[in-house]
Amino acid sequence: MFDQLRELIRKIPIFRSLKAYIFILMLVIGVVPGIIIRIGILESYEERAVSLRISDVTTQYRIIADHLINYNYLQDTSSDVINAELEQMSNLYDGRVLIISGNFRIVKDTYGISEGKTIISEEVIKCFKGENTSRYDRNNGYIEMTVPIVETVEQDQKPVSIVRGVILASTSTDSIAATLEILSRRALILEIVMAFLILGIVLFFSHILIVPFERITKAIREVKDGYTDQEISVPDYLETEQIVDAFNQLLARMRVINDSRQEFVANVSHELKTPMTSIKVLADSLNQQPDAPAELYREFMQDIAEEIERENKIINDLLTLVKMDKKEAEMDIRAVDINSLLEMTLKRLRPIARRQDVEIVFESMRPVTAEVDEIKLSLIFTNLVENAIKYNREHGWVRVVLDADHQFFTVEVSDSGIGLKEEDYDHIFERFYRVDKSHSRQIGGTGLGLSITRSAVLLHRGSIKVSSVEGEGTVFTVKIPLTYIRTGGNV
Ligand code: ADP
Repeated sequence: MFDQLRELIRKIPIFRSLKAYIFILMLVIGVVPGIIIRIGILESYEERAVSLRISDVTTQYRIIADHLINYNYLQDTSSDVINAELEQMSNLYDGRVLIISGNFRIVKDTYGISEGKTIISEEVIKCFKGENTSRYDRNNGYIEMTVPIVETVEQDQKPVSIVRGVILASTSTDSIAATLEILSRRALILEIVMAFLILGIVLFFSHILIVPFERITKAIREVKDGYTDQEISVPDYLETEQIVDAFNQLLARMRVINDSRQEFVANVSHELKTPMTSIKVLADSLNQQPDAPAELYREFMQDIAEEIERENKIINDLLTLVKMDKKEAEMDIRAVDINSLLEMTLKRLRPIARRQDVEIVFESMRPVTAEVDEIKLSLIFTNLVENAIKYNREHGWVRVVLDADHQFFTVEVSDSGIGLKEEDYDHIFERFYRVDKSHSRQIGGTGLGLSITRSAVLLHRGSIKVSSVEGEGTVFTVKIPLTYIRTGGNV
């Protein structure tokens, strides 16, 4: 229900504007208290005026009640003094006065309508018990009240009060209503003036407050349109500073991505050009010697074939790398027996190792099955073991250890090879980075293997670490979750 309402509100453009919110908020804060105060003051004025009127009138009728007893009016209503007094009260308070005797009979009605009739109402009964009552009827604009007519007699030498009758009087509250009306009209005029004043202030401030945000938009647009690639700065508020900081970080990251893309393109061109240049040099030199011996031709053609093979390898590696860069969708996740996968990979690589007289040892601590992309995982193992063979010494060894806990499995590939300097640890995962370019080239490296490996590990939400002692050997440790962690759609 709430969500639907929010959705509906969001569809109205004005309700998505911060300016509108500030405007509405300030207006509400400015105007609402005024309205509350007006209503509060008017209501308490009315309450007070009514209670004052009641106490005033009650006092007057108390005096008259004494007169009624003194003149024995309940028995004989002919007293001109009292009648005049009652008439005067009736006129003064613009209301009716009824004098009710002990048997609930109306002995006097200033309107002259109900004399002789009987009246039994809750208020009158209460009043006979000695209680004053009053009732304010706002809609019809009068107060109705009862005052007991009390006679004090001596009983057992003690004064005792006896209620002989009741005065039931009404008084008009028109004058209170008129004052209220005037006050209310004045307050309303004041409120309207205030509202206009506040409106002006609010319009001004909601504009001023929003300006830094507009400046951010302008600055970002300038960056987008290419007028500047400087960092932007809008330090007006902490919030704008945070937005701008985040944007500057994004900008810096984009610059890094752009630089690395440019560097990558330059590297690719260079790498692809190298075998081509060799092929051209070889072919040119053959062309310049029309009568070169057949062995030279064969030798040069052999070299040309090797260069083509190399070109092919680079292109294949590049294609693999590009595939790795495409995220999730490309992952073919299944439950895979990691022990068999490693055994198969090592079986394929053993002939190459044998050629270099390198021994491969496999140690499995436990059977491991994990949710992985088999092809990509096999690529990881192949690259690491191939490197361990390639950068090894003669009669060396490669040791592969598989282990797992309840969350991850780890594959450790260690070798007895040439090792790495610590400063190279981070760089070896970069595209085309090779510690010794000519050595890597000699043994058929492209500088893309570890970059592909790292991408494949990251696609599995795993990690890869390297540690090495120069001249003694290197250890690569890959750690991958046993269960594939899928992320939300917006990755
Ligand atoms: P390459 O195709 O040159 O082997 P990689 O990306 O696989 O490219 O490796 C990058 C560089 O890291 C290699 O050129 C090499 O210098 C270094 N390297 C990789 N594996 C090892 C290892 N096991 N021992 C020593 N150096 C290694």
